[in-house]
Amino acid sequence: MIFYLLGMLSYYKLANKPVPATICLLFFAVITVPPTATLYFFINEHWAFRAIAFAGGLFCWTFIEYFCHRFLMHGKEKKEYHKSHHFFHHTNPAVIFTSRVKRIIFSAVAALITCISIFLSNYLFLLAGMSTGFALYGYMHVWLHKPWASKWLSGLQKFHMQHHFGQTEKCFGVTTTWWDRIFNTIGKTEKIAGAKSIELYFGKTNDQHLITHKQAV
Ligand SMILES: [Zn+2]
Ligand SMILES: [Zn+2]
Repeated sequence: MIFYLLGMLSYYKLANKPVPATICLLFFAVITVPPTATLYFFINEHWAFRAIAFAGGLFCWTFIEYFCHRFLMHGKEKKEYHKSHHFFHHTNPAVIFTSRVKRIIFSAVAALITCISIFLSNYLFLLAGMSTGFALYGYMHVWLHKPWASKWLSGLQKFHMQHHFGQTEKCFGVTTTWWDRIFNTIGKTEKIAGAKSIELYFGKTNDQHLITHKQAV
């Protein structure tokens, strides 16, 4: 099955087409379900189980993030998409609808689930990792729209800029880029964004001195 799916992925790579939703889901299921089942049934008492389950949860989040952004936020009918918050964020990149209060609540929930996992059940560590990934995503998206992030998160910021600047059907990952690489939705890096787009991307907080990657996105 895995070899069959790898063959399908290489076919889409060769044909330079993005991989459809069903194959994305199948590939994710095939690479995650067997190791997760092994973990849960055979080594769930081992001390390493907690760390592996938590890391597994973070990994699962990266796929959920990619899948929801690509197929739910961008997969809508044109009319519906144009009415959505996500479209508004694309046309006004400095406006992010998840408020600071919500981000704090998401982080608190993630911390709470992690505590519950420690005291109540090892099995919840997978969920704790996922909710931590979600909370991190909330912050990461805000950071990627800040000029200072070009110093620390240059690669991810350029990647997100490509998604905003005319390559909306590419570069869906926010916290990672690996699913875009696997499912063939990587953008073209040679595209140059104009100063106006850069200003729009950062909003009023833009400070040209901090943008180290010279507007190349
Ligand atoms: Zn954005
Ligand atoms: Zn988008």
